Amino acid sequence: MAARRFPYPPPRLAAVGDPLICSAKGCRAPAAWALRWNNPKLHPPERRKVWLACPGHRESLGAFLSTRGFLREVAPADAG
Ligand SMILES: [Zn+2]
Repeated sequence: MAARRFPYPPPRLAAVGDPLICSAKGCRAPAAWALRWNNPKLHPPERRKVWLACPGHRESLGAFLSTRGFLREVAPADAG
């Protein structure tokens, strides 16, 4: 079985059983929230990108996305 190399490993892609870690730059805190967003210039409308946020970064990450009109939903991180 040949190993496949991914050309663009996504940052912070969680494997099953991994702790969910905040997506904020430099933050290693466990994530409590999943911020689901979409950039209409880059993504089809049904597409969702997800940023994970610890309680301390939920507001700043959410503000960053909503300022740009990208934020779609915020859900508990463990809800998928
Ligand atoms: Zn954080």
